[in-house]
Amino acid sequence: MNLSPIAYITSPYKQKFAIPRQPNLVKEAKGEIVFEKDFSDPNCLRDIEQFSHLWLIFVFHETQDKGWSPTVQPPRLGGKENVGVFATRSTFRPNPLGMSVVENLGWEQLGSSLILKIGGLDLLDGTPILDIKPYLPYADALPDAKAGFAESIPGSQYEIVFSAEAEHELNKLQQDYPELKAFISSVLQQDPRPAWRKKEIDEKRYGMNLYDLNIKWQIQGNQIHVISINPES
Ligand code: SAM
Repeated sequence: MNLSPIAYITSPYKQKFAIPRQPNLVKEAKGEIVFEKDFSDPNCLRDIEQFSHLWLIFVFHETQDKGWSPTVQPPRLGGKENVGVFATRSTFRPNPLGMSVVENLGWEQLGSSLILKIGGLDLLDGTPILDIKPYLPYADALPDAKAGFAESIPGSQYEIVFSAEAEHELNKLQQDYPELKAFISSVLQQDPRPAWRKKEIDEKRYGMNLYDLNIKWQIQGNQIHVISINPES
């Protein structure tokens, strides 16, 4: 079996930390699928605009060399209970394949490059895409399906508060990143910290990279304070 990427993702998520655990949890996360030369033929995308959402089949390229084990400890269960790898969407799998439903935001041709825009993604920048298929609500949306320990939509109850310094930076960045404040808020609403951290008093200052920006934040009671937003050095 010989699979090769048809495209690579350009994503605002430049590191694994703070990427949501599934697509569509952060609607403001927008990216581009940039097709490889052999697939940069608009005929491949003919009529794709009829589908509002698409399945992406991709490679967990960042973790593919780290192996796998029969059980994993999902963050959902506090990172301490073991469940079978095939009962999870863990990145550490025998074949490092991921699947995400994303919003179809249309395509364009820029010179010789074919680009498909997508929204709500949960993929790291540079992720190789193996295949794209339309999402079919009659077959793929099953409202009565059971999801055991992953039944509820993840997210936190934290209020997101921006410091005066962060607000000032947001104003300066408004033109380049009009949805930045909502994007940062949605990402933080997912509480990106490791599961074990959530159980203890946590005074740590965290940093996360979105686009080419480094965002510093900290938990304070029932709020998450965004301290600063700076160009990534
Ligand atoms: N929706 C996909 C699925 O169910 O197969 C991915 C679910 S996985 C739990 C989501 C996590 O994968 C993200 O939080 C991020 O840390 C990680 N991730 C995203 N892109 C990746 C990549 N290219 N390589 C390794 N890990 C990645």
